Amino acid sequence: MNVHVDIPSIKPLIGDKLANWLATPRPMLIDGKWTPAQSGKTFAVYDPATGEKIADVAEGDAADIELAVRAARKAFESGPWPSMTPSQRGRLIHKLGDLVLEHADELATLEAIDNGKPKHVARAADVTLSADMFHYMSGWPTKIEGKTIPISALAAPGNQFFSATRPEPVGVVGQIIPWNFPLLMAAWKLGPALATGCTIVLKVAEETPLSALRLGELILEAGIPPGVVNIVTGFGETAGAALAAHPDVDKIAFTGSTEVGRLIVKAAAGNLKKVSLELGGKSPNIILADADLDLAIQGATAAVFFNHGQCCNAGSRLFVHRSIFDRVVEGIAAEAAKIKLGHGLDSATDMGPLVSQVQYDRVTNLLASGHNEGARAVCGGTGVGGKGYFVRPTIFTNTNPSMRVVSEEIFGPVLVASPFDEVNCALVAEANNSIYGLAAGIWSNNTAKAQALANRLRAGTVWVNCYHVFDAALPFGGYKQSGWGREMGQAVLSNYLETKAITTRLPV
Ligand code: NAP
Ligand code: MG
Repeated sequence: MNVHVDIPSIKPLIGDKLANWLATPRPMLIDGKWTPAQSGKTFAVYDPATGEKIADVAEGDAADIELAVRAARKAFESGPWPSMTPSQRGRLIHKLGDLVLEHADELATLEAIDNGKPKHVARAADVTLSADMFHYMSGWPTKIEGKTIPISALAAPGNQFFSATRPEPVGVVGQIIPWNFPLLMAAWKLGPALATGCTIVLKVAEETPLSALRLGELILEAGIPPGVVNIVTGFGETAGAALAAHPDVDKIAFTGSTEVGRLIVKAAAGNLKKVSLELGGKSPNIILADADLDLAIQGATAAVFFNHGQCCNAGSRLFVHRSIFDRVVEGIAAEAAKIKLGHGLDSATDMGPLVSQVQYDRVTNLLASGHNEGARAVCGGTGVGGKGYFVRPTIFTNTNPSMRVVSEEIFGPVLVASPFDEVNCALVAEANNSIYGLAAGIWSNNTAKAQALANRLRAGTVWVNCYHVFDAALPFGGYKQSGWGREMGQAVLSNYLETKAITTRLPV
């Protein structure tokens, strides 16, 4: 295990421009203007690798949500946005994608110091996929079409109708996002809402508000009109809850924990706003006896340890055919030993810290429960201690389904591995034995067999001989308690559209 946690002083590494930007408290984007909280309050943002403060941001609450919702309502009802052509809207969204790429280095730096992930990973994954999301979505406004529908019931000679559907934006949308992919979650949410012509109030995670605030500046630079995107920083219990409950918000889109997802559903009940949810996971990753072992070992390592395990789709429950179980577990442990923990701005870093003290305590408590309940840590098994919230990549064997490490989403670099004897109903039942159903992986050289197994897994995404392959064009979302609705692809558009049926009596 290569524990490399020398913490660089970040100032010389981020450049003067960004250092100056961070030096003044960051206000919120409301009605196209940078606005402090009504209360005047701010809160501190920390670098999770050091625990040191890197910025202050406005502490928005219900009063600021009120202003943001009013601005979004005004921008939805009047002003340039609703009267723009689909093509004009598409061009603005495309421009935003271009600006994200132009500022890739800066955005990746913000992710590294705010979330803790390695900058090179943020650049290659988070920023690239965010730009791709805007570029992909920029093509949709001109392609959202209705249908003409022949109707029969009341038709008769001399009584003819013309019926057609017209998709329309759902209206003012509240969006609440987590801290694991701060910029990318903003892009996943904003892209389709903009493409469908909605207006938005985005509440970003308290742990990681910075990249979305910088994105807000790029949104204005792209020429997206005032009030179309409003960005509020603040806490879930105040700003988030006020947004979810607001009577003038037509739809709420949430990504985060299943527990808070339930609160969102309750809060949304007041005005019956539309709800889409992208929640937790405990995804099975299944390696069959005939798999390419090198590929499967590399893939299973990335499946669970990418983004420090802070992925809702992490392949955190590994099932390996008994004949290759020891080789696979040793292989993943050998890969884990090569993972270099460090500061996100250090180019040698493979894995940064967890995002916060709260997450560090949650994950290390779950590790302790694994030890106490009799699981065996093949590697890792503890936090690093000292400065920052670093946790060692961990593999547990000798587990059983009643252990907390097997049943609960850990959201840290922790894998539970168990052997199976046959691809049969028992394996399928075990893989599906979770309240979640977000993703799954299968590794096999027999693609027909893998496909047959994929069909039996209750998950919104199944990867065969790959993992974490995301694309703006592919729908992503959960079965069971992993969520409602889909993100990305054509599928996400329905989250943000109403369908109007218009019927006209034709003259005789
Ligand atoms: P969380 O509490 O679900 O936070 C997600 C978002 O919801 C944040 O913006 C949060 O604000 C907000 N929020 C919290 N309480 C709210 C409320 N009552 N009403 C409206 N919004 C509210 O997630 P977390 O505490 O950051 O992480 C806890 C666990 O959630 C993780 O360990 C992991 O298991 C899961 N999680 C899942 C995902 C995913 O992608 N599916 C992402 C992150 C976390 P604050 O920033 O102020 O909390
Ligand atoms: Mg939280």
